[in-house]
Amino acid sequence: MNQSFFIKTYGCQMNEYDSEKLNDLLEYNGYKASKNFEESDIAILNTCHIRKKASEKLYSDLGRLSKFKENKKKLGKRMQIIVTGCVAQAEGDEILKRNKSVDYIFGPQSFHKLPKILKKSNSDKVYNDFLCENKFSSLIPSKSKEVSKLITIQEGCDKFCSFCVVPYTRGAEFSRSVENIYAETIALVKNGAKELTLLGQNVSSYESNVIKDGIRKKIRLGDLCQILSHIQGLERIRYLTSHPIDIDDNLLDQHKKNPKLMPFLHLPIQSGSDRILKKMNRKHSKTFYLSLIEKIKKIKKNMAFSSDFIVGYPGETDNDFQESLEVIEKVRFASSYSFKYSPRPGTPSSLKDSLIDCDVVDRRLKEMQSILNKHQTEFNLSFIDKTVDVLFSGKGKKPNQYVGRTPHLQPVHVLSSENLVGKLLSVKLEDLTSYSFHGRLSA
Ligand code: SF4
Repeated sequence: MNQSFFIKTYGCQMNEYDSEKLNDLLEYNGYKASKNFEESDIAILNTCHIRKKASEKLYSDLGRLSKFKENKKKLGKRMQIIVTGCVAQAEGDEILKRNKSVDYIFGPQSFHKLPKILKKSNSDKVYNDFLCENKFSSLIPSKSKEVSKLITIQEGCDKFCSFCVVPYTRGAEFSRSVENIYAETIALVKNGAKELTLLGQNVSSYESNVIKDGIRKKIRLGDLCQILSHIQGLERIRYLTSHPIDIDDNLLDQHKKNPKLMPFLHLPIQSGSDRILKKMNRKHSKTFYLSLIEKIKKIKKNMAFSSDFIVGYPGETDNDFQESLEVIEKVRFASSYSFKYSPRPGTPSSLKDSLIDCDVVDRRLKEMQSILNKHQTEFNLSFIDKTVDVLFSGKGKKPNQYVGRTPHLQPVHVLSSENLVGKLLSVKLEDLTSYSFHGRLSA
């Protein structure tokens, strides 16, 4: 009988993409996906290292799984436990020390080796080299029929922000070849994908080469968007996550003239204080960030922005925090993520001792989130009674209800007796409940 597996995914969209790829690879090799750990012969944890909570979750899940494995053993059944993702890369040996029931550890650039290793069990337990190229050439085309798909085009980061583990867990910047991305996109569109989100830890640093008429041409993110937008059937392109200093004119030009490139940009700033930005090694100032936003708005009037903020970075004063709030007031983000500073082992900022009192951080975060939420609601309310294009990706919870997204990523629910999945239609937005709209198809 085919062995079954279950993958639990923690963290970001790049992990979601990796899990989907690992799922396809295992099915291709004869393994069967199961619905939960209880029914599976192989339990896979695809981990995230970005915040302390995420890696703690791994150890508590491992505790539960090893008890489960022991019980199965008593019944004469076998279970293998595999850890992959960023914690596997950063803490491979530590995981094995803390939990003896783990069978194998695969870093994010090595998970493609899993089917082979499972077939001919190996004495090596940890696989964590950084060769992205080998991974991407081993992946197989997705069979997924989803309308909105993720595709990793870039991995790793050379920026070394002082709080971030990515350069250590995902390695140096690597860009997939245009040919490889194009082939995967064609396969996805053939299966029904209409929207593509190009993923990378630092996607705006994408750089590859193509040879045309014997001449080597450098391809940046903007060029890639242009190339992909010629694929018939692909209606929308997005990209995630960008670093402000890598947003170039090539990309902005695409925002100006490529209607398939959506007017929504996630552009993390992390702090509004130049003093803290410098400590964070962000390589840009508040003024640079704000002028970039102004420049983009001039090029694309309806562009909306989201961002990431870290609250309570070591040494953050009330004044530094106020400067972050000033940026928020100036930009009025359509949505944003804000987090308490969480020291990650091995990062330069984890060695700093000027930690901010927890109550102060809690108070600051609460204040920031209430302003961000207010701006998000105001942004959404400005769309009431407007007609916008909605790409429908699935069914809602109610009968005859369909869910889609606007160009600005806002979720919309519509009632229809006709199947709307995969359709791009004009919808009049009539009502807003928390962050989701209810609308009516336009005649
Ligand atoms: S640019 Fe992003 S991924 Fe790179 S080190 Fe900074 S926060 Fe991490």
